[in-house]
Amino acid sequence: MTEPYAAIREEVAKLCQQFPGEYWRAKDHAREYPGEFVAALTQAGYLAALIPENYGGAGLPLSGAAAILEEIQRQGGNGGACHAQMYIMGTLLRHGSDAQKAQYLPRIASGELRLQAFGVTEPGSGTDTLALKTTATRNGDDYIVNGQKIWTSRAEHSDLMLLLARTAPRETGAKRTDGLSVLLVDMRDAVDHGLTIRPIDTMMNHATTEVFFDNLRVPAANLIGTEGQGFRYILSGMNAERILIGAECIGDAKWFIDKATTYARERQVFGRPIGQNQGVQFPIARAYAQMRAAELMVHDAIAKYEAGENAGAEANMAKMLAAEASWAAGEACIQTHGGFGFAAEYDIERKFRETRLYQVAPISTNLILSYLAEHVLGLPRSY
Ligand SMILES: Cc1cc2nc3c(=O)[nH]c(=O)nc-3n(C[C@H](O)[C@H](O)[C@H](O)COP(=O)(O)OP(=O)(O)OC[C@H]3O[C@@H](n4cnc5c(N)ncnc54)[C@H](O)[C@@H]3O)c2cc1C
Repeated sequence: MTEPYAAIREEVAKLCQQFPGEYWRAKDHAREYPGEFVAALTQAGYLAALIPENYGGAGLPLSGAAAILEEIQRQGGNGGACHAQMYIMGTLLRHGSDAQKAQYLPRIASGELRLQAFGVTEPGSGTDTLALKTTATRNGDDYIVNGQKIWTSRAEHSDLMLLLARTAPRETGAKRTDGLSVLLVDMRDAVDHGLTIRPIDTMMNHATTEVFFDNLRVPAANLIGTEGQGFRYILSGMNAERILIGAECIGDAKWFIDKATTYARERQVFGRPIGQNQGVQFPIARAYAQMRAAELMVHDAIAKYEAGENAGAEANMAKMLAAEASWAAGEACIQTHGGFGFAAEYDIERKFRETRLYQVAPISTNLILSYLAEHVLGLPRSY
C-alpha cells in the first residue's frame, strides 16, 4: 500500500528520530512538557500545516495534517502535546474576522504565538457542553469572565486559549444551543490577573490543567464571530478534531503492531520464536485487521470532509474505531512481550497509557454510539 504524503511522512519520521524513546520516557517520568519536540515541529512548520499559505502556513488539506500526526505516533512520540493547535486554529480561520486572522494566524504559523489551549469542559458539565456555567459578561469594551474549566490541556504551554463561555442565560435563547460564545483569551498577561492555572496529575504525561477565571477582562475585540453562536463554531471544528485523533490512534496501532511482530519473531521460548505460536500470532493479526478497517474509515471521513460534505458520522466512527484498534493493538503488544511489556524501557506501557485516553477524550465512545443511533439510525434521542 502506498500511503498518501510519503515525502512528508519521511521528513516527520526523521524529525521524530531526534526524539527517541529515551526522550519520551524521561519526559513521562518527570511529567515534563516535551517543549523541545514541540519547538522542532513548530520550526519545521508542521503545526501550521492547516494554516493557509497567505497567512504563512503550509495550506495543506486535512489529509496532510492527519499524515503528520499519524507519523508522530507511529514513531513512538506523542502528538497530544501539541495536536490541538492544528484544529483549534480552524475556529479562528473559519469564523474569525479578517482583522483577527491577520493579527493572529501569521504569528501562530511562525511559532511566535502558541494556540494550544481549548477551554470547553467544566467540572459540572462534562459531556453536556450546553450545561457549562462559565460566564462572559459584556462590560464596555471588555468581557468579564468568571467560572472554571477542567481538563484544559497545555494551558501552561500556550499563549492563547480558545474559550467557550456563556454570554446569555440558557433559558433565554431561541434555540438550546444559543447563548454560548467563543473568545480568544491571551493568557500571557492574564495569569495572576484573573486567571489561575492548576496542573492535574494524570495517568499519562498530558500537561492538562484546571483553569479558574475570576473577573478576567478579555477585550470584546477577541470575540470570535457573533455573540451567542459559539457552540456552532466549536461543533464545526469537531469533525476535524475527531479525524485527526483517529489518525493518531492509527499511528499508535501501527507502532504497537510493529513492536509486537518484531518481538514475536525474535523472542525464543521453548527453543523457537514465540511468534510461531498461533496463540501469539492471532491477537496481533486481529489487531492488524482492526487497524486497517479503522484506517479505511479515517480515509473515508477525510474524503468526505475534504469534499465539503457533512462528515459527522464518518468522523465519529473513525475516531471510535481507531481508538479501539489502537487499544487492541496495545493489548496484543503487551501480551506478546510478557513481563517485558511492563518495563518502562520498552515504551509499551507508556504508549498503552497514552492511547487509552482516546476512548474518553475529546468525546467518549458512548456519546459516539448515541450520535450514530440518533443521527444515522433514526433511533430516539437518549439524553
Ligand atoms: C487527559 C485529558 C485531556 C483533556 N483535554 C481537554 C481539553 O484540552 N479541553 C477540553 O475542553 N476538554 C478536555 N478534556 C475533557 C474531555 O473532553 C472529557 O473528559 C470528555 O468529553 C468526557 O467528559 P467527562 O470527563 O466530563 O465525562 P462525563 O460527561 O462525566 O461522562 C462520564 C461517563 O459517562 C458516560 N456518559 C455520560 N452521559 C452519557 C449518556 N447520555 N449516555 C451514555 N453514556 C454517557 C460517558 O460516556 C463517560 O464514559 C480532556 C480530558 C482528559 C481526561
